[in-house]
Amino acid sequence: MTIEKLALHGGPKTVNRPFRRYNSIGTEEVHAAKEVIESGVLSQFLGVWHEDFYGGPKVREFERNCADYFGVKHAITVNSWTSGLVAAVGAIGIEPGDEVIVTPWTMSATATAILHWNAIPVFADIDPETFNLDPASVEANITPYTRAIIVADIFGQSADMDELMTIAARHGLKVISDTAQSPGALYRDKYAGTLAHVGGYSLNYHKHIHTGEGGVLVTDDDELAERLQLIRNHAEVVVEDKGVSNLSNMLGYNFRLGEIECAIGIEQLKKLGRFVQSRQATADRLNEGLAGLPGLKLPVVRPDRTHVYYVYPMTVDASETGVSRERIHAALQAEGLSLSNRYQNIHLLPCYQQKMAYGTKGFPWNSEICHRDVDYRKGICPVAEKMQDEAYLGFGMCVYDLDGEDVDLIITAIRKVWQNLDSLKG
Ligand SMILES: *Cc1c(COP(=O)(O)O)cnc(C)c1O
Repeated sequence: MTIEKLALHGGPKTVNRPFRRYNSIGTEEVHAAKEVIESGVLSQFLGVWHEDFYGGPKVREFERNCADYFGVKHAITVNSWTSGLVAAVGAIGIEPGDEVIVTPWTMSATATAILHWNAIPVFADIDPETFNLDPASVEANITPYTRAIIVADIFGQSADMDELMTIAARHGLKVISDTAQSPGALYRDKYAGTLAHVGGYSLNYHKHIHTGEGGVLVTDDDELAERLQLIRNHAEVVVEDKGVSNLSNMLGYNFRLGEIECAIGIEQLKKLGRFVQSRQATADRLNEGLAGLPGLKLPVVRPDRTHVYYVYPMTVDASETGVSRERIHAALQAEGLSLSNRYQNIHLLPCYQQKMAYGTKGFPWNSEICHRDVDYRKGICPVAEKMQDEAYLGFGMCVYDLDGEDVDLIITAIRKVWQNLDSLKG
């Protein structure tokens, strides 16, 4: 068999056309949005204690549908999942200076939500197979000041929730689940996001289902639900009339999602199962076509979970390929296949490295509310750092509408690079 020359070395390029972008907005959403616009009521929220404190008809219908779908008592919409994370950290009753353990392998907002309440993010390391928080590292990072854990269900698969909830219970910690990327993923027959004290999903334009911007919090806890609703909608002016006596973290925001977004969300939620199935079918085809390539590890899905493949995450082991991840990434790029060789190590962002969040004097770290000198230096999360520096190779397939032919092209490009590894050496 002749081996075709790599595009990097002047051979023919494998993928010669762009993949179609996914557009999940159909006539159902257009009709739903139009109906709201024609009603003239684009938001019915009032930031006072009144029936409309909970929003208008589409907000309430979408929240009811989300609660039913995910099997929780309460679903609370917000104008972004970033807002949802901020509301969640406030709602669980964090004090300034409290430590919250968080994963570095996530979108930055997962950790800044902690800083927004003047609490201190502490980064634990990740599992090298799933990229989710490693329960052993979480446990090792618990101090007398730890109050909560923020778990991310990254790339489409739930974190080890039983282990994490057991650790949390043993130490009296609250758990928040950032399931932005994994709506519809199952963990022991329950939906990811619903296993923590409070969890939720992003509805931004890049996620499985979207309303342009938006998010939805889920919880079974009545008191947390009330506090989330208060933080969403100007808590400070509502608490007195509503008869709320616990004033901690009751400085509210305007995190309200509009009627148009919720009307669109109602239609999107109906499609979630179908979207997830199609991404799982794509992943199955990739798994089959890419099996057996030395040094290329395909996504690991734990037997008690499903993966919804926001990202199809792979790793490269250069000790097996003999070629660095960077060389392989460049060769694939030349073949017309754009994979990602970076995700996030958020502990290495400037705000943590320089310990500079509020003002110029290093608040909150350099103030008396911070109990100890928290370490953010490179080296604290060796697994996450190694993934970033040498191993991770991800395909962000959620943004594409791929057919079988597209998937086969991806497989061909990757197999071609593997057939030519020798030519990439040295
Ligand atoms: C998208 C995302 C967020 C933020 O969601 P927004 O709705 O864009 O604010 C937070 N965490 C993770 C893991 C995400 O992927």
